[in-house]
Amino acid sequence: MPPLNVGDTVRCEPNTHRTNQWKCRKVVADLAGRSYEVETEDGGKYHRNRRHLRQSKETPTVADDMEIENHIPAETTMTATPAAEPTVEGAAEQQTTTRSGRTVRPPAHLKDYGKSRSTPKFAEMKRRINPRDSRINKKDRRKSKKKSKDNSKIVERQVPKVSSALFFQYNTQLGPPYYVLVDTNFVNFSIKNKLDIVQSMMDCLYAKCVPCITDCVMGELEKLGPKYRVALRLVKDPRFERLPCMHKGTYADDCLVARVNQHKCYIVATNDKDLKRRLRRIPGVPIMYIRQHRYSIERMPDAFGAPKV
Ligand SMILES: [Zn+2]
Repeated sequence: MPPLNVGDTVRCEPNTHRTNQWKCRKVVADLAGRSYEVETEDGGKYHRNRRHLRQSKETPTVADDMEIENHIPAETTMTATPAAEPTVEGAAEQQTTTRSGRTVRPPAHLKDYGKSRSTPKFAEMKRRINPRDSRINKKDRRKSKKKSKDNSKIVERQVPKVSSALFFQYNTQLGPPYYVLVDTNFVNFSIKNKLDIVQSMMDCLYAKCVPCITDCVMGELEKLGPKYRVALRLVKDPRFERLPCMHKGTYADDCLVARVNQHKCYIVATNDKDLKRRLRRIPGVPIMYIRQHRYSIERMPDAFGAPKV
């Protein structure tokens, strides 16, 4: 950028975002380097970087219009006073004209600029009375949105009853002999780990255990086909108790969960993660599973044979 001389007329970049107007200024001093001291029409002096200044051939005075049209060099314009420069601020009082002779009119939104604004009238809104206020006559009052309670209607709610067996911290219905509902995969895993079901249960709980097979579990084992015929033969052992099913469907997981919800006298033996998660939501039901080639049990503090975790 070419350097400026003292006395040059410049336009100055606005330092606020509120206006786009490049104001007309006069350079008064060269401050060794890239910055200059500029003077405004009202005598204020500012330091501005060269970047924010644009050299202008115009003259701040309106009277010099003719001279600018004749391309009068900067020496003559520098004598002109910047007092009459065309700005918006001064336009309210005095009419200013452009070089072409057009009258400069300030934009309408700047009309109130600088004047004190009236405060917002939120207080008046606050003073208004609520249309539902009890002080208003009843016929004029707006009806309240709340519906009056209809006592004749009985609200029905389905809340599962908590078993009385869970009155104490432990399940009082559980006790030797333990009845263990056995799941399909528990039988299969026991065979894989070469564990005798009844014997291993007794090793875990140190008490007599009766494994129970529901019709649904039996059906599942039968459906698994000839590969699982060992399992099928195993559950037909006389030591196993057979529980007949009266419900709809044959899904063993639902069957076991429903039974456990109804009666709190069972332990459930399963290795199925999803079923275990479902059972954990039901209070008072210990879950037996295979771990480290042994039977283990959770939620049963007095199972002394279970491996310590
Ligand atoms: Zn069933």
